[in-house]
Amino acid sequence: MKQAIYPGSFDPITNGHIDILKRARQIFDRVVVAVAVNPDKQPLFSYEKRVRLIQELMQDDPGIEVLYYSGLLVNLVDQTGIKTIIRGLRALTDFEYEFQLAMTNRKLNDKIDTVFLMTDDTYSYLSSTVVKQLARFNGDISQFVPPLIERAIKEEFDE
Ligand code: ADP
Repeated sequence: MKQAIYPGSFDPITNGHIDILKRARQIFDRVVVAVAVNPDKQPLFSYEKRVRLIQELMQDDPGIEVLYYSGLLVNLVDQTGIKTIIRGLRALTDFEYEFQLAMTNRKLNDKIDTVFLMTDDTYSYLSSTVVKQLARFNGDISQFVPPLIERAIKEEFDE
């Protein structure tokens, strides 16, 4: 069985992430979406909430599992035995950072391979940050995130 880990903040998951996930599922039998618990970032959604939202969105696909991890990705690789990492690429600007990340993970565990998938160009400018900024000022985010996420963001900002 071909398996891969798709790690990220997913705060919140966007149509861009979902596009990458669907593409990954055409290549891998099982994809583990790994929500990062990052103590340096002040997230909009708790990691538990991010996991729940992604689980609900992906419930029809038994090939997708969602969990959270804290600390280093290499530790998750050790725990799960899954050595393939998926990352999405939007534009050339993503490359520098992703290259650093992939090489660092490789240095920590030389069995790790990072597979980069390119998003549909519709989503090439889309990021969680842009979605949050738009939502904060009541902008229309319906074309960037699924309805479930749109509702969750509205609820979060209303609180
Ligand atoms: P991180 O904080 O680890 O960068 P993100 O949730 O921002 O977490 O992104 C996770 C992965 O998804 C990264 O590889 C990122 O490049 C990719 N990604 C994010 N948005 C998009 C998008 N619109 N299209 C394709 N890939 C994306």
